[in-house]
Amino acid sequence: MDRIDQYAKATMSEQSERPSNTSSVSPERQSAIATLIQQTRSLSSLPLSVGNELAFAVQTWTVALEDIPDHMLGPAWKRATKEHDWSKPFPAHALMPAYKALLLEDREKRQTLGGRRRDDTTRCRYCDDTGYVPIATYCPTGNEWYYPVYGCQCAATPISQRQAVQVRDCWERDDRGRWVPTSASESPKCRCAFCLRGGGR
Ligand SMILES: [Zn+2]
Ligand SMILES: [Zn+2]
Repeated sequence: MDRIDQYAKATMSEQSERPSNTSSVSPERQSAIATLIQQTRSLSSLPLSVGNELAFAVQTWTVALEDIPDHMLGPAWKRATKEHDWSKPFPAHALMPAYKALLLEDREKRQTLGGRRRDDTTRCRYCDDTGYVPIATYCPTGNEWYYPVYGCQCAATPISQRQAVQVRDCWERDDRGRWVPTSASESPKCRCAFCLRGGGR
């Protein structure tokens, strides 16, 4: 009973010096765990725990639940007690599978949210929501391809800068993300000074 007395003394005393094995457990966490113990006893139709018995229970639960962060103690307890068969005792360890289930659900929720956000931000396959589409363009005057950037027709582009240049879905993109028409005849019309003056191709 020496250890229990020691522990009880440590938890009751106001002094900052505590035995090293409890120094990492805050008074808030200890009191939260004590509350869960009492609530559990209440659900089990047991009298509330007092004195050394409570201090011992807090110590047991503190060790059993050391992997559960403060803010998850309550939710894990709630979930574990909801599914518990109250004709049987409720051990502190029952919180662990409940805690892990909560973590898993949280991760799945975040992945779903992340996936949805990704879909939203890259809804334009032509410009990747940059607003501008680089398209390989053939210049008949110079007899060469070059890579001007066109204002996309999607919402990422200011209305005044949208250009009626249609990317065809059969075109491929090169390793720099530029759209490449299948042939010169599919190229956007060259707008260079020479072609404009000469009336284009
Ligand atoms: Zn676009
Ligand atoms: Zn040209």
